[in-house]
Parts: sequence; C-alpha cells; structure tokens
Amino acid sequence: MKNIITKITSEFPNLNYKVGSQFCWSPETNEIFYKKDAMGNRAVWSLLHETGHALLKHKTYKSDFELLRLEIEAWEKARYLSSKLKIVIDEEHIQDCLDTYRDWLYKRSICPTCTTKCLQQGDFVHYRCFNCHTKWRVTSSLFCRSYRSTKGVSQVPVFRLQTDLQ
Ligand SMILES: [Zn+2]
Ligand SMILES: [Zn+2]
Repeated sequence: MKNIITKITSEFPNLNYKVGSQFCWSPETNEIFYKKDAMGNRAVWSLLHETGHALLKHKTYKSDFELLRLEIEAWEKARYLSSKLKIVIDEEHIQDCLDTYRDWLYKRSICPTCTTKCLQQGDFVHYRCFNCHTKWRVTSSLFCRSYRSTKGVSQVPVFRLQTDLQ
C-alpha cells in the first residue's frame, strides 16, 4: 500500500493520504483515507478509485443520479492511473461496484409504505411517493460508502422515515 501511495504522490504531490477505517475520499478535508492493513488487489483498486475522486476534485452531488455519474468518472480516472502504474483493474470488479451503487440507489427510491418506485424531490434529500404521498429522507453518504464484495447487501441505512413531514 505504502509503495503505491509513494508512486502516486511522486506524480501528484498535492494529494494527501491518511490512514482510516475505510477507503474514502473526504472533499471537506482534501484527504484520501485508506486502510493501513488492507492487502490484495481490491485494496489497491479502492485506493485508485478514491484517488480518482480526489484528482477530479469531486465535492458534492445534487442527486442520486449525479452520484452514480461521479462514481463512473472516478473509476475512469482509476483506470487511467492504473495504466500509468502498470496495474490491471478487473473490469468485473468495477461493474460490481457500480451495480452495488445502483442497487443501493434503487432501494432508496422505493416507497417504504407501498413499494412504488419514486423520483427524488427537488431538494435532493427527500423522496415523496406519488402514489401514497409518503415522504422519506435519504441519508447523504457522499463518497464514504464502503463496498461489499457480495452484491445487494447494504451496510448503511437506506433511508430514514420522516413522519413529521406528512
Ligand atoms: Zn467512489
Ligand atoms: Zn407509497
């Protein structure tokens, strides 16, 4: 891990890496967090992905749809970095990660009352069901959602019901 970080920072000296509990890009502090003891290909790929967010200066997103677009961009940047570092990122891994995001976003958009698929509201924090008019709030995760190797399992709460909005 240290090796790769040294290689990346020799080319991009403005990047800040810090040990953290998960791989994560923090736009507020301008830091890329990485797991110190993480080993193997997936860890390297995650590092490159978060570095991609950092190089693209991803800050915030206004909708779930935009978040997915930023995720795709970060992977594109990761691919570019990997070719420079002569590392191969498994294309299937990228698709798995994006699928996990898509699943997660899909779950957020399902009405907790009547399971209708809904669109995000204008404020990008709430969803409102056009069928039964339930409103719910989605947690904002920014770029710190950790990936799981198995598909479809979400670690973070998908949404929080806001009954006071009714
Ligand atoms: Zn990401
Ligand atoms: Zn509903």
